[in-house]
Amino acid sequence: MISNCPSLRGNRSNLEKHILKRLAEEENFDKYINYIKNPRDHFKSFIRDEVSQYIRDQFSDSVQLKMNQNIELLQKKIMTAAHESTQHVQENRGNVDVWLKFFTLKLSDVLMFSVKDFSGVKHDDVDDFKLLEDVIRTELPPVISDISREFSTDSFNKKLDVNNRPDEILTDHLCQCCWVQCPFCKAICTNTLENHDGDHSVPFHRVTGINGKHYSGSTNLCISICTSRVASDKLFNPHNSDDQRVLWREYSRAGGVYANWSITPDLSELFYWKWFVCRFQKDLEEYYEKTFQGRGSIPDRWREITQQEAIESLDEYM
Ligand SMILES: [Zn+2]
Ligand SMILES: [Zn+2]
Repeated sequence: MISNCPSLRGNRSNLEKHILKRLAEEENFDKYINYIKNPRDHFKSFIRDEVSQYIRDQFSDSVQLKMNQNIELLQKKIMTAAHESTQHVQENRGNVDVWLKFFTLKLSDVLMFSVKDFSGVKHDDVDDFKLLEDVIRTELPPVISDISREFSTDSFNKKLDVNNRPDEILTDHLCQCCWVQCPFCKAICTNTLENHDGDHSVPFHRVTGINGKHYSGSTNLCISICTSRVASDKLFNPHNSDDQRVLWREYSRAGGVYANWSITPDLSELFYWKWFVCRFQKDLEEYYEKTFQGRGSIPDRWREITQQEAIESLDEYM
C-alpha cells in the first residue's frame, strides 16, 4: 500500500506536503484551522481517509471482481450438484435421503454442511426428490445476490482486523516524530524523532498572523514570517500580557518555548502561506477577531499568487 500511495510513501514531510496540497485544493477553512491547531489529529484523519480511499479503489478493482467470480462459480457448482443428485437418484432408484447424501458429498469440498443441516426436510414434505432440484434452482439466485450485496466495501472495511488496521499501522509509522510547533507561526518541527536532542527546527515557517499573532498594541494581525523576522532588528512581545520585549534576532532569550527553537534567518518565502492569507483573509479575521490592516496590510503582490502557484511552491521547497 505504501508504495502505491504517493501521499503515504516516504516520511512525514512528504505526507505534510500532500496534506497542504489537499487543503489548498479543498479550500476548507475549518480543515485548515484543524491542521494548524491540532496537526496530529489532522494527520491521523488524513491517513485514515487515504487508506479507506485506497482500499475502496483496490476493492472495486480487484477484490470485488474476484469475489463475484468466486460467488458465480459457487452458484454453478451448487446447481450442477443438485442436477447430478437428481440423475443419481433416478439411475439408482433412490429417495430424498439418497439425494441429500449425494448432494452434500458433491459439495463437501466447497461448502461446510452435512445432511443434518437438512433435518427440516421431511420425506412427507418432499414426495418428489425432483422438487429439491427445483427449489435450489429458484431459491439460490436471490440468496447469492444477497451475499454479493453484503460483501461491499463498507463491510470489508469493518471486517479488517481491529488490531492491525492499515491506517493505525501507518499512523504509528508516520507520526512517531516531533510534533512541537513553532511558538510564532505553528509550523511543525520536522525532526523524525519524538524526543530528539537539540533544538526544534523546520525549514519553512509561516505568516505568523495565521496563528493569531498581532502587532503589539494593536488588533492588526501579523504578516511577517519568522525566518525573515529573525533577520531584523524588530522587537516582539513574547508573553503578550507583560511589557517584556525581545529582539527577534535574540528570540531564544525570551526563554520558555522560544528557547528550544532554532530559526535560521532566511529571506526566501514560501508562496503557499501568502496565498492562504489572501484566500482566507476574512475567515482569519473573523476567527481571531482581528484584521489584516495597518502594519498588517497584505502586500498587493501577495494577492497575485494563484492557487496553482501556491501548490507548486510546495514542490519547490518541501
Ligand atoms: Zn515559525
Ligand atoms: Zn522537534
